[in-house]
Amino acid sequence: MLAGLSPGAPAWAAGSELRRISLVPEATRTEVVLELSAPARHRFFILENPRRAVVDLRAVRFAAGGRAPAGEGLATSVRIGPQANGDLRVVVELPRGTPARLRQPGGERAARLVIELGAPAPAPSSTTAAADAAPAAAGRTANVAVRAAHAPAENGREIVVAIDAGHGGPDPGAIGRAGTYEKTVVLDIARELAARINREPGMRAVLTRDGDYFLTLRQRMNRARAAKADMFVSVHADAVRDPGVSGGSVYVLSEKGATDEQSRWLAERENAADLKGGVSLDDKDRMLASVLLDLSQSASISASMQAAERVLRAMGRVSEVRKPAVQQAGFVVLKSPDIPSMLVETAFISNPGDEQMLRREDRRRALAEAIFRGVHSYFGTHPPEGTRFANERKSPPVAAARIDR
Ligand SMILES: [Zn+2]
Repeated sequence: MLAGLSPGAPAWAAGSELRRISLVPEATRTEVVLELSAPARHRFFILENPRRAVVDLRAVRFAAGGRAPAGEGLATSVRIGPQANGDLRVVVELPRGTPARLRQPGGERAARLVIELGAPAPAPSSTTAAADAAPAAAGRTANVAVRAAHAPAENGREIVVAIDAGHGGPDPGAIGRAGTYEKTVVLDIARELAARINREPGMRAVLTRDGDYFLTLRQRMNRARAAKADMFVSVHADAVRDPGVSGGSVYVLSEKGATDEQSRWLAERENAADLKGGVSLDDKDRMLASVLLDLSQSASISASMQAAERVLRAMGRVSEVRKPAVQQAGFVVLKSPDIPSMLVETAFISNPGDEQMLRREDRRRALAEAIFRGVHSYFGTHPPEGTRFANERKSPPVAAARIDR
């Protein structure tokens, strides 16, 4: 029953840390997401009576103060315990007969493991995801290594930013005249942005997708919520029939209709992503969402607006922006009532100049840096309670060692 024993590789970190376990329950399946500070060798197997999915992580310790999450969905309970041999064992108890498998979505050098319970993921084969992630893997590992040097968390928790690369898998998003896929360039920007955030002390990024696979809009929101995100940033590239239209825009959710016709049209198109993937939000979800929205959306829209304005301003310094103001529209993906959320249309992929820009790594990095600057600036003045940002504001450290650039 042994599966997923990783081959030895010199790059494995000597001592990795299990930083977080989160559960993502959905209708017919549940994901248990293990986030490590660095890739670790591991062993996955199933035990019976009661049925348990077990992962042994080689030479991994559990982050200080970390707790196992309460059982949810198909994960009846989760236990974590160090073994005598230095391994860390994660045990997930399941209902009898529940299928379970281990995936490493970012490839074997990724620091994230996912135990899938129940129905298989709607994603295509993991080989696609692994191949897709390979070029970024080295960079990510390096980021993790840099961050470990300044990661002590005793002066407050990290601000978590969920970064959502739009589209994916069978849904390519918009396609440029030179054949550039929106789903590809926005994933590159999202990864760049995540790496930048992870280099910043007191901040941590979570990617909703880290490969070329399909997620429903609800799955994207669920992943952000499971990660207890303080902000949700969805990254896209716009398209219209007129190739002369260019520049980026930033959107937040509107409670009452779209800012203008163009915004409404765009929201309809982005929302239709769920239909392309063969899944749509059911009516019950819509109704539940609208009730939740009425209760608590206003506060987060105003926070979203303030953060979005800073991102738009920062983008304006590195590339063209289409309109000087943040736009509002009814994007489904932004409807997380309690998480300030924005949708960044980085440029018009339908414009040849913008498309060429999106194909350039240095320009994508500049866009990611601009989004980072906007988000960072917002949290600098609006740090969530209990975070390192909030605590350092109250009592500035004598000399904060900065290893990042
Ligand atoms: Zn899009």
